Amino acid sequence: MTVLSSAMRHAFLAHCRIVLGDSHVYTSAADMAPFLTDWRGRHTGLAMAVLRPGSVQQVADVVRACARWSIPMVPQGGNTGLVLGGVPDGSGAAVVLSLARLNSIRETDALNRTMTVDAGCILQQIQDEAAAHDCLFPLSLASEGSCTIGGNLSSNAGGTAVLRYGNARELCLGLEVVTPQGDIWNGLRGLRKDNTGYDLRDLYIGAEGTLGIITGAVLKLYPQPKASVTALAAMESPSDALRLLALMQDYCGASLTGFELMSAFCLELVATQFPQLPRPFSDAQHGPSHGQFVLLELSSSESEAHGVGLLERAIGAALEQGAIKDAVVAASVAQSLGLWQLREHIPLAQAKAGKNIKHDISLPVSSIPAFIERTAPLLQQAFPGCQLVCFGHLGDGNLHFNVAPPAGISNEAFLENQDAVNRVVHDSVAAFSGSISAEHGIGALKREELARYKSPLELNLMRAIKTALDPQGIMNPGKIL
Ligand SMILES: Cc1cc2nc3c(=O)[nH]c(=O)nc-3n(C[C@H](O)[C@H](O)[C@H](O)COP(=O)(O)OP(=O)(O)OC[C@H]3O[C@@H](n4cnc5c(N)ncnc54)[C@H](O)[C@@H]3O)c2cc1C
Repeated sequence: MTVLSSAMRHAFLAHCRIVLGDSHVYTSAADMAPFLTDWRGRHTGLAMAVLRPGSVQQVADVVRACARWSIPMVPQGGNTGLVLGGVPDGSGAAVVLSLARLNSIRETDALNRTMTVDAGCILQQIQDEAAAHDCLFPLSLASEGSCTIGGNLSSNAGGTAVLRYGNARELCLGLEVVTPQGDIWNGLRGLRKDNTGYDLRDLYIGAEGTLGIITGAVLKLYPQPKASVTALAAMESPSDALRLLALMQDYCGASLTGFELMSAFCLELVATQFPQLPRPFSDAQHGPSHGQFVLLELSSSESEAHGVGLLERAIGAALEQGAIKDAVVAASVAQSLGLWQLREHIPLAQAKAGKNIKHDISLPVSSIPAFIERTAPLLQQAFPGCQLVCFGHLGDGNLHFNVAPPAGISNEAFLENQDAVNRVVHDSVAAFSGSISAEHGIGALKREELARYKSPLELNLMRAIKTALDPQGIMNPGKIL
């Protein structure tokens, strides 16, 4: 990496001020602070400056300046990422390039069912705009009020509706990208079919800002469902949850839009930390027959009555076949929100209870019960008394498999076992042909883990792509590879 003399640094910042205006080049510690620490507060980096371009041309101009002076860039959207991808390292050599000011909806084409947006649009803004056109943009995450579509695409975000609509990748038809040399690639095509060679769009999606800066996107819209209905089902084991999934898919087909697994321990944690939230089953009902819970969501393109009828028939069959022991169907929007709050408060309850060792893993759906049955005892053997906080998007094969300390051991002391805990969990994931990152990405946090579990050939192919597109190595260096 080139070490800039103070004169070069001065010249670079002066150039940025001319391009962006003084008020959009932050260099004071106070102005830069919110951009330097990650959402979980695990890491605080340093930066030469935070640059806040307000147009695609300004992005290209400052990127060209970075290329000229070989200055590393860290693209940042809402800074809600969970793997330290959007914050700089401790060297202070990089600039953070915030896309937050690029936040216009450029066009909505309801007939083509597409929306063209700036990369800095907040996800919720896009959902609301789609709804205003009686359409649905189905990407949905607990961070949707803060994360940006550029960050969603760069991390190929998942969320709660992947089962029906796919990851962010499946929801994007076209991209506009500023390359590490400062050129603007306009790939904003609203086409469902386009077989014209290598798919550059797919390269940039999930690249976590290491190949270029996404400045715009064409997103896919869907018809707005007429109604969504929600239920919570209780069962003994993850195997029962898998039986329920198959049954629900048989009965409801594409209407099944959510299938979230939560262990009884997760719901107890939520009840302890947030006693004001509903408890759908009485204490007397809890016990071994209620070891696991599944939050189900069905979307109906006909009516609420149709959705409820479908859900009740499927639940009736699941009870009859012994896949579940009990279920409650939300009778109102408020009850449905209450059930979703239980799911969404699990990460918040964990945060309140103290830091734990997190894993965002992906497995073939059919292997999930066997994975849990094999891995939970291995963890107990190695770390007696440790507590498993296991929940996730079962329908997508995605588990959040988090490990909290045994009673009486502080969270900080337990975190020292992070590498050893990761080894148990990730070795087991690899044995089941799974992935060590389902939806959060690699960033800087999981880079060493990626190097351990990807084949040398796959890593070399990835490095070749990185070198071809970013030969100077200035685009979010130290992330992924
Ligand atoms: C409460 C909470 C719940 C979450 N739930 C989920 C979930 O269910 N599913 C899920 O997948 N994730 C989830 N996340 C993680 C996070 O919200 C998503 O990864 C989100 O997509 C990140 O968007 P962002 O704009 O905040 O990106 P940032 O955090 O700013 O950046 C993320 C990565 O993308 C890069 N980047 C950002 N913008 C651009 C751009 N325009 N061009 C190129 N690179 C860019 C950054 O360099 C970084 O590597 C959650 C996070 C929180 C805090």
